[in-house]
Amino acid sequence: MTSLPKPLPAPDPATSEYWEGAKQGELRLPKCRDCGKFHFYPRTLCPHCGSVNLEWKNCSGRGVVYSYTVVHRAPSPAFEADVPYVVAVIALEEGPHLMSSIINVPADRVRVGENVRVTFRSAGSGDEMLPMFELG
Ligand SMILES: [Zn+2]
Repeated sequence: MTSLPKPLPAPDPATSEYWEGAKQGELRLPKCRDCGKFHFYPRTLCPHCGSVNLEWKNCSGRGVVYSYTVVHRAPSPAFEADVPYVVAVIALEEGPHLMSSIINVPADRVRVGENVRVTFRSAGSGDEMLPMFELG
């Protein structure tokens, strides 16, 4: 049976800065120069005020677990070695919520409201890196 590989980042003009930051160990988010708010996912208009006057900023990489689930059944054979793993919504200090994984901790240790910090894990080939989170 052929096993599909894990999906890799697919940068496009709206997300390339995000993925380039990840390669350099930086969590970058778009910030509006007009209203001063961050947003995620990356897009061409500020979702808060509609401005196109956006810039990319490095973020603290800190936040709290807003919600999470523990995946026990791999969605494809490529993930079988990873189960159980935690998929979480992280509420970043800068405001946006970001879906990612919490790694380097047993799944039953994760709780809503726990502090987390970003870390980066290889996407499996090439130099692509994925932002993930650790407790602490
Ligand atoms: Zn704005």
